[in-house]
Amino acid sequence: MTKLDLYANIVGRDVIQELHQLANLLKGRKVVHVNSTREGGGVAEILGRLVPLMCELGINTKWKVITGNDDFFQCTKSMHNALQGSPIGIPESLLKIYEKTNAQNAEALREELEAADIVFIHDPQPAPLIKFCPNRKGKWIWRCHIDISRPHRHVWKYLGNFVTNYDASIFSIVNFARRLPHPLYIIPPSIDPLSEKNKDLSAEEVHSVYDKFGIDVKNPIILQVSRFDRFKDPIGVIQAYRFVKIFTPSLQLVLAGGSATDDPEGSAMLEEVKTAAGDDPDIHILLLPPDSNRTINALQRGANIVLQKSIKEGFGLTVTETMWKGKPVIGGNTGGIRLQVINHHTGFLVNTPEGAALRARYLLHHPDKIKEMGYKAKEFVRTNFLITRHLRDYLTLMVSILYGVKERIEL
Ligand code: UDP
Repeated sequence: MTKLDLYANIVGRDVIQELHQLANLLKGRKVVHVNSTREGGGVAEILGRLVPLMCELGINTKWKVITGNDDFFQCTKSMHNALQGSPIGIPESLLKIYEKTNAQNAEALREELEAADIVFIHDPQPAPLIKFCPNRKGKWIWRCHIDISRPHRHVWKYLGNFVTNYDASIFSIVNFARRLPHPLYIIPPSIDPLSEKNKDLSAEEVHSVYDKFGIDVKNPIILQVSRFDRFKDPIGVIQAYRFVKIFTPSLQLVLAGGSATDDPEGSAMLEEVKTAAGDDPDIHILLLPPDSNRTINALQRGANIVLQKSIKEGFGLTVTETMWKGKPVIGGNTGGIRLQVINHHTGFLVNTPEGAALRARYLLHHPDKIKEMGYKAKEFVRTNFLITRHLRDYLTLMVSILYGVKERIEL
């Protein structure tokens, strides 16, 4: 039995068979994914699961990570913020470092990238690599994971100069797509139900994780799992918690996060969060190492209320992870959260800390609703946001792009 067969119990045998049929058209092809961090954040999370499955299907798939110094990541983080709408320009000197770093990375990767049949370049950090691989033989696809629906215009114009050279782009949601001179594909991300982060855990294990952090599972818990990032609005989460605590004094808040090597702003945000938390013994800020998948799994399973109060969100894998655990999510009314949280059905969409508090109070008083909405949430993820659907979309895209298929693929 292969690893892929294990998913049949979750999504049905037909789905797995279809993956094999599609992959038969791609056997032995060379595919390279490139991003800018091996751990931390959603992209690394996805690639860590997707790449081995593509290999198992007989596609020769590699995952490469570009490297850079602090200035490079400062530049790409500013670019990320500007593309998500912050009105900030980027100094010419930093853009020079951005291009130079990509040129240096191209030196190490060129042979492999130029020989590949398909190259997936994830997000803006490695986007200029295409310029430094002039003899590329395969198709290059820019895979954008962030919300660039309202970018700071100058920054998008600059990045767009690289992106236009690609053969296709992928966005997570229709709204995020930009006008580009090549085919655009819409492929939402996914989670792996068999990963340490998402597989079933015993109640004992869940409780022991909370015990380890000195958090009392007998009292209600609100949780947000996120990098310490302004767009995730951890300060808004603390405000929401404080509103609810007025009515539920035993309430505890858990903010669990780590850092990503391509995110230099995390520590400043963490300090702000600590200041906002003050000396409240019921606020637990957990700084988790990158391999804390089982811990996060347990935290998500044990919390009474899970928030993802982002003000911008490319997709929000934390939302999918929580919904898969049979829980509704109270999520910011933005980006990819809207794709997952169907208001009043799989969770609640909120715009303010007050709104989040209102919904949290409602759910705390209606455990039956948590169960009902949680069931819908899980089934919604099963149908739309599991890795098998993601894999099928990627395989279909690869077949259509390599074979020039315009209408339908015969299996
Ligand atoms: N995550 C993690 N440790 C942390 C914080 C987050 O492993 O301390 C994981 C989280 O479970 C999710 C991913 O990182 O799988 C974050 O993806 P998401 O799309 O929610 O946000 P991003 O960080 O990509 O903006």
